Amino acid sequence: MRTLLNNCRIVNPYGEMPFMENGSILIEDGIIKELGILDPTIQVDETVDLSGETVLPGMINAHAHLYSALAVGMPFPKGNPTNFTEVLEQVWWILDLALDKDSTRASYESGLIDHLRHGVTTVIDHHSSQSFVNGSLQLLVETAEKLGLNISGAFEMTDRNGDKIFQDSLEENLTFHRSFIQSDTVRPLIGLHASFTLSDESLQAISDALKNESHWGIHIHTAEDKADQLDAVNRGYKSTLDRLNHFGLLNKNSLVIHGIHFVEEDLKIIKDTGAMLVHNPSSNSNNRVGMTPNETIQQCISGLGTDGMQGNMLAEAKEGTLIRSGHLAGGETNVNYAELLFNNNPEIASNLFGRKIGKLDPGYAADLAIFDYTPRTDFNENNWIGHTLFGMETPSDVMTNGIFRIRNNEFIEIDEKDILSNAEKQSQQLWQKMEKIL
Ligand SMILES: [Zn+2]
Repeated sequence: MRTLLNNCRIVNPYGEMPFMENGSILIEDGIIKELGILDPTIQVDETVDLSGETVLPGMINAHAHLYSALAVGMPFPKGNPTNFTEVLEQVWWILDLALDKDSTRASYESGLIDHLRHGVTTVIDHHSSQSFVNGSLQLLVETAEKLGLNISGAFEMTDRNGDKIFQDSLEENLTFHRSFIQSDTVRPLIGLHASFTLSDESLQAISDALKNESHWGIHIHTAEDKADQLDAVNRGYKSTLDRLNHFGLLNKNSLVIHGIHFVEEDLKIIKDTGAMLVHNPSSNSNNRVGMTPNETIQQCISGLGTDGMQGNMLAEAKEGTLIRSGHLAGGETNVNYAELLFNNNPEIASNLFGRKIGKLDPGYAADLAIFDYTPRTDFNENNWIGHTLFGMETPSDVMTNGIFRIRNNEFIEIDEKDILSNAEKQSQQLWQKMEKIL
């Protein structure tokens, strides 16, 4: 199958050809074959005229929690949590205990729709539904396949709901890993909630279980709050990552999330093991846990994630820029959030999925976000950051692996209204259930 997209503005940040007006993109079997000024008589199966449209690479969310998709507008807990641990205890650990199969499916569907709507075509998810463990990651894959996204899944293992659920979660991660490690569009990771909710015995059990597996990597929250580092120190380790490294759990396929309170030892371990960091500015701000230091972001391959806050990566990059600016003195340099989104996330996703994802270069997956965007100022190779973060909003068309999933603002294969009305119904039941657990 060969498709030719014509007459588009191509914005390919950090790619081989970062900017082009009136360009063409040739797609063959889901992969970008060629782009630039192409021979108009080229033989193809389908030609699409994109006059007036701007094409960006399909974006990647490097840390998502689709399970929290039904939390939008949820009542604030009556206990009025005052710190990070209380927020977990009164909100997220109640939500993930209340989710059953139907509400989990509704969360996946509505959460993935939110991502696709915003041109996000690859989601690296960190899942938790503690009362629905077995088969939860298989359900994630089925939902992502129906919508056409590239998906990475991991089930958050934790001790907080007892040994049976911990063992089931370990089994779920291993089954998922063995079933999908060869897949092109699914990337299994081994999910751990965080160091402070796992005992040494549990970390040893995870480490033992991975001894006979290959290509595994873990996905875990680290040093999000000072409490995580303090817990590791109280158990006799130098830091959270020192503890994970002690059990042999870190490698170049592993994602460590947040790292706000990393100490020098953590940065050294990241360097030695090749583990990747993911920064989530809107969530960190919302949870009031502090701000990842510029130096930490610059010293690691830092990706950008939303930590369940949203499916809109352009908004996350913009908000990250603004949140950090609010803490900087005039003249100080901000982190380049566009680089995290358009350079580091593609590097992370390509490493994990074992194929090229996230740029508009030959050989990359044909994942595209196409915007019907008429700029009110000159748009050129030097000011694309301003236009992408502060001008462009929602794409009119989205393609994944060479197939249009959204065309002229409409989903092609799925009934969006149906999914959203089911999500609304499920959210009501879920919130009532949470109230009973509290
Ligand atoms: Zn998270």
